[in-house]
Amino acid sequence: MVSFRNVTKRYGDLVVLDGLNLDVAEGEMVSIIGPSGSGKTTVLRMLMLERIQGGVIYVDGAPLSHMERGGKLVPANSRHLRAGREQIGMCFQHFNLFPHMTALGNCMEGPVQVLGLSKQAARERAEDLLEMVGMIDKRDEHPARLSGGQQQRVAIARALAMRPKVLLLDEVTSALDPEVIGEVTEVIRKLVQKYRLTIMMVTHQMGFAADISDRVCFFYDGRIEEEGAPADLFSNPQKERTQQFLSAVK
Ligand code: ATP
Repeated sequence: MVSFRNVTKRYGDLVVLDGLNLDVAEGEMVSIIGPSGSGKTTVLRMLMLERIQGGVIYVDGAPLSHMERGGKLVPANSRHLRAGREQIGMCFQHFNLFPHMTALGNCMEGPVQVLGLSKQAARERAEDLLEMVGMIDKRDEHPARLSGGQQQRVAIARALAMRPKVLLLDEVTSALDPEVIGEVTEVIRKLVQKYRLTIMMVTHQMGFAADISDRVCFFYDGRIEEEGAPADLFSNPQKERTQQFLSAVK
């Protein structure tokens, strides 16, 4: 579903992704872990609107980072990137809900404005999703009157309302109080187990990553240092850097 082929991303002289190869299958849940600054968030951002300096990124078989012209792949223009971007849903650490809209309004806005759904169709879709994340009772509340965990659940519903092919989750529990982390992780667990969504998640919660991921990628210096099934990677890491990282975060 997502394929990074030898992808390089630089900011000035700083090489953040260094020839990255990563394939995520349809319905797969991949967690990305690693030290601060190792490029985890950058991987997700390359699926948004950012340009890369080398390699190609494919989503569902079509190049996202490039366009075909005269039988060749050339770097994508902004229009192509924007169109591709509609296949990707993203939730961040800070939920960034529209403050002046209700939970329902937040979930209807994209489908109406971007996808051109009728208000009625968007409302039905939004209500189904709010039900799924356990927020239907709060549909008429504005974000300021919701807890962090509740806002994050609305943010997940809002991302899903666009029917993305891939959902990106970037440290979605990091800004939350410990007592509400569980409600958000439960929603993600449901998405993985019941809906088999294709998800790429950056997280610092090793227990949660171990629990729900099909595969965990340990990033170091813009590359995948080690990857594997959580049971293998967490209990029997092969590389020294992975061992050091995991013993430091335990
Ligand atoms: P953390 O766990 O702290 O969030 P991370 O592994 O997600 O870290 P990234 O956010 O991907 O790391 O950043 C990787 C590197 O790229 C860092 O050195 C960061 O300073 C740099 N970087 C990220 N975005 C930019 C930018 N827009 N301009 C310049 N440098 C950037």
